[in-house]
Amino acid sequence: MARYTDAVCRICRREGEKLYLKGERCQSPKCSFERKGFAPGMHGRTRRTKLSEYGNQLREKQKIKRMYGLLESQFHTFYLKASRMPGITASNLMVMLESRLDNVVYRLGMAPSRAAARQLIRHGHFTVNEKPVNIPSYLLSSGDKVGVAQKVTSRRLEIIHHSMQRMSASRLPSYLELDKAKMEGIFRKPERSEIPEIEKLREQMVVELYSK
Ligand code: SF4
Repeated sequence: MARYTDAVCRICRREGEKLYLKGERCQSPKCSFERKGFAPGMHGRTRRTKLSEYGNQLREKQKIKRMYGLLESQFHTFYLKASRMPGITASNLMVMLESRLDNVVYRLGMAPSRAAARQLIRHGHFTVNEKPVNIPSYLLSSGDKVGVAQKVTSRRLEIIHHSMQRMSASRLPSYLELDKAKMEGIFRKPERSEIPEIEKLREQMVVELYSK
């Protein structure tokens, strides 16, 4: 499957804010955005372009897409699905993105980043309702139980343990329940307002862009 392979920290610098794509490093002084908070490239430090309406919409779409680690075609498919659902398309889109298995594994603190969650899921280290699921884009429904697979190789994985140790209750979104001892959590479909970074996102601009 195609995936984004450019230096990840350039994405934060391009979007002008921390998108927390690299796990532990994002919280440390090694964060590239903390050290070089200007756009990448030769003119990144000096050139400040005033964006058009289209430019702002495009940047917002890129930011949300990259935050959740999706490629353009995957993101557009999510948008099309959201537009066919009843309710507000922009909110539907955000709730769908938040319901992806890779996002929930990350939010539960079982992986340091969404990218790491995707890799762990593909390698068969997670279950949904006790059944193995190796599809990162799998959409969860309310009441679904997400857990680390019962295999010893999964339960002993250092990356999962290390990430869970660092997980604090304050980081857990209100729509998730976590049982650290059992290495599992329960998902509930969130309201838009429950999505942790929602105040930084202007998802309505994505709808305006795609509706042109
Ligand atoms: Fe972004 Fe994390 Fe890289 Fe900082 S360390 S620039 S927050 S991906």
